[in-house]
Amino acid sequence: MTAPGGPRHRDDLRDLTDWQAGLRAQFPILTAHPDLAYLDSAATAQKPRAVLDAVRTYLTTTNANAGRGTYPWANRTTALVEQARDRVRGFLRDPAPQRSVVHFTGGTTEGLRTVARDWLPALLCDGDEIVVPHADHRANIEPWLEVQRHLARQGTRIHVLPMPYQRSSGDYDHHALAELAGPRTRFVAVTHVHHVYGADMNIHRVRRAVGPDAVICLDAAQSIGHMPVSVAELDVDFVVFSGHKCLALPGSGAVWARQERGPGFAPGGWQGTPNTVGIVSLAAALDWLDGAGTDRVARWTTALAARLTDGLRRLDAYEVIGCRASLAADSPVQRRQGIVTFRHRDIPSGDLGFVLYDRGFMVRSDHHCQGGEGELDASVRVSAHLYNTVEEIDRLLTVLADLG
Ligand code: PMP
Repeated sequence: MTAPGGPRHRDDLRDLTDWQAGLRAQFPILTAHPDLAYLDSAATAQKPRAVLDAVRTYLTTTNANAGRGTYPWANRTTALVEQARDRVRGFLRDPAPQRSVVHFTGGTTEGLRTVARDWLPALLCDGDEIVVPHADHRANIEPWLEVQRHLARQGTRIHVLPMPYQRSSGDYDHHALAELAGPRTRFVAVTHVHHVYGADMNIHRVRRAVGPDAVICLDAAQSIGHMPVSVAELDVDFVVFSGHKCLALPGSGAVWARQERGPGFAPGGWQGTPNTVGIVSLAAALDWLDGAGTDRVARWTTALAARLTDGLRRLDAYEVIGCRASLAADSPVQRRQGIVTFRHRDIPSGDLGFVLYDRGFMVRSDHHCQGGEGELDASVRVSAHLYNTVEEIDRLLTVLADLG
């Protein structure tokens, strides 16, 4: 019998099967629960042994405060934090590491808010425009609107231009953006991979649409660790991400700033004790991911998403959200980076989430923290990482078909 997702995607993955099995075996929580399928990595990712070991080693050999103290543990901790900054630059393929800034944060939400509070007001003058993606994650909407309100109280008017979308795909409408953006468009907030639609938002086309002078701030929460993210190729000014979604501990994350457009990025005020354990875990996770190869991770998770989407499209009871066109794994426009979101015609998404857990699948079923221009109704989101398998996707499709 043909597998629910069809044989083609299995062929796409044949050369990666051993690679994937070897990596999956390094996730203790998964090997301890072979009957459960964790398909909620867009919410948070599981941790490989290398990250758990790095944390344990740090805490049992070196733990001290960073940037304070002169004894060896303190010096070593300070050095680890600085090495982690370089690790972030290396992971992002930073072509000019001596000119960029890496600022550690508690995650994407805190990182975007730091750019908004500590940097954006100095860029903007009365009458300037900023582009806000109202159908993306709320973490990438609210900070920019707060800046608008804050500046308005001081008598500076900033115009918010809503990012245009192609409703059928969830991608940005790059043509409409080019028409919208003008010389006063100083700042554009974008998302690399959409957390509901899974779409790669084609950031190089955003740069073409807004021209060479606008600052682009990239929310990379869903792309870091899932695909190569190279600032040598992406002409963006900020890259903001969370550690917990890229296999590190919660409460870690970073803002990378290019420092070429607008004022320098120097997050203000007294910086308290950093989350040294989180930073150590982040460096270990990025090492591990570089070793695994983010290009292969992208191939794997994109093929899983394509397999799931193709299977769902054959089931009448389900509507896949944000992708009515072809979802072939090799389509450059419609690539889904491991995230597929759908609804059942009759079963409310919240109920479907409970039913799926009952059958051994952990998925997310709600509104996914999407902004006001997003989906009106709740939906079920399946999100894969490199540890998920073809068998898990096929088992899920079989269960979904039974419910149909
Ligand atoms: N942006 C996107 C695209 C996300 O998916 C998320 C997390 N779901 C965030 C921002 C917020 O990340 P965090 O909760 O780690 O701050």
